[in-house]
Amino acid sequence: MGLFSFLTQEIAIDLGTANTIIIHNDKIVVDEPSIVAVDANTGKLIAIGEKARQMHGKTHQNIRTIRPLRDGVIADFNAAELMIRGMIKMINPKPKLGIGIDVEAPEGNMIVDIGGGTTEIAVIALGGIVCNKSLRIAGDDFTDDIQEYMRHQHNIKIGERTAEEIKIKVGAALPDIEDPPIDFIVRGPHQMTSLPMEIPVSYQEIAHCLDKSISKIEAAILSAMEQTPPELYKDIYNKGIWLTGGGALLRGLDRRLEAKHSIPVHVAEDPLHAVARGTGISLKNVDKFSFLLR
Ligand code: ADP
Ligand code: MG
Repeated sequence: MGLFSFLTQEIAIDLGTANTIIIHNDKIVVDEPSIVAVDANTGKLIAIGEKARQMHGKTHQNIRTIRPLRDGVIADFNAAELMIRGMIKMINPKPKLGIGIDVEAPEGNMIVDIGGGTTEIAVIALGGIVCNKSLRIAGDDFTDDIQEYMRHQHNIKIGERTAEEIKIKVGAALPDIEDPPIDFIVRGPHQMTSLPMEIPVSYQEIAHCLDKSISKIEAAILSAMEQTPPELYKDIYNKGIWLTGGGALLRGLDRRLEAKHSIPVHVAEDPLHAVARGTGISLKNVDKFSFLLR
């Protein structure tokens, strides 16, 4: 199917720094990492999404993997175009639907979307965005922090993929977690000697290493609260904050924000797909949600 004929139908694309989600007919049809692999000599596409991710950090000089988005913006237009075209061709159905909150109610809702490159903080009421804030501290920075920490603290060199795996396996926002994960064994070369090393990493260490970046997100939430009109502030205070995006999955982040801001914090169901599902709903109610689609 040609690109043009497809675009005459309605699809919702959440083009994220880390993941791209496409919704068609209420269904998630594509859910792939935002990454492409190209032939370094000819620029020809070799792989997209998960297949390209598996090549990331493992390529030789003839293959290059590219993440077309950085910090929430398109950093490489060619690669982004290849990726979007390729993903639209990938369509194959799976079910699901947004966070499920009623944004048209006259009550304020605060949503914090922690993605790969950016964290978006928005207060929504009566179907409109009352205030929003975007900061360039998000999941990728957590991954960078871990990479840097492993080098600094343990003298071990690890790639971005391993750092992300550590984040997912033993990532935490607090040094005391109810259901603690077991230590993760990191393997890699010593920075100086290049000899192989095995280092067990605990979630407490990662909580410590992510502390600074999380504090920056906390500060941005606080400043968004300060800018919220008092009547809406009261609603948010009572109902709490909704966390979404892949960063919402970090262990203990909800509890940490709850303690910091003295406000209930809820993690959206299926946070990696909530934005795309919400966009799908908005497309079917274009008149109601046009403010979001401008
Ligand atoms: P974007 O919208 O920018 O594509 P996503 O909402 O898809 O971002 O979230 C991607 C980010 O979430 C990545 O940085 C990824 O490492 C992170 N992430 C995914 N799963 C987890 C997890 N279980 N714990 C912590 N971070 C996670
Ligand atoms: Mg996103």
